[in-house]
Amino acid sequence: MTERSRLVVLAGPTAVGKGTVAADVRARHPEVWISVSATTRPARPGEVDGVHYHFVSDDQFTEMVETGQFLEWATVHKAARYGTPRQPVDEALAAGRPAMLEIDLQGARQVRETMPEALFVFLKPPSWDELVRRLVGRGTESAEERERRLDTAQVELAAEKEFDVTIVNHEVHAAAEELVALMMLNCEQPPSTDL
Ligand code: 5GP
Repeated sequence: MTERSRLVVLAGPTAVGKGTVAADVRARHPEVWISVSATTRPARPGEVDGVHYHFVSDDQFTEMVETGQFLEWATVHKAARYGTPRQPVDEALAAGRPAMLEIDLQGARQVRETMPEALFVFLKPPSWDELVRRLVGRGTESAEERERRLDTAQVELAAEKEFDVTIVNHEVHAAAEELVALMMLNCEQPPSTDL
């Protein structure tokens, strides 16, 4: 019988590069299954529905919440709702695939309540200055939005101690490889004890 795999939950402060690390894993490790979240925010240029996110309306999202379709969901940056559809996660784990979620801290805390056996990985910036530089460098947010995200990031950095493992995001490829190595370890079949 296939051994059920252990879910890996990647979280960390805003703008630490979770999405970029997840994209790197997606591009170079097709053997890794990565959850596609549903979100109420509009697609950015280049984002494909069903690949990067399932872009849904507010009503659709509410319906998914009410019918228990989410493993976790949260309102992020007081702006839009994001959630992890439960069924594909269950299927990937049952198939024994290395599987991961890239979600915010509120979501990670919810998963810890319902799936404490998952492996919680905190992605950390090399320094606070580097985090600020990345946040400002992205240039996609207004000054007000940036301030709000920095406030959130400060609180989120303090959450590192709640996690099982920390990966420092010095460089995207290296962080992605570290993550994949962890996932492979957590998918390995334990040695058989059958005689
Ligand atoms: P973005 O809009 O930049 O793609 O993502 C914003 C934030 O939402 C990121 O911190 C990302 O980790 C988080 N996020 C993406 N999908 C989910 C999800 O399914 N659940 C939760 N809780 N957060 C998510």
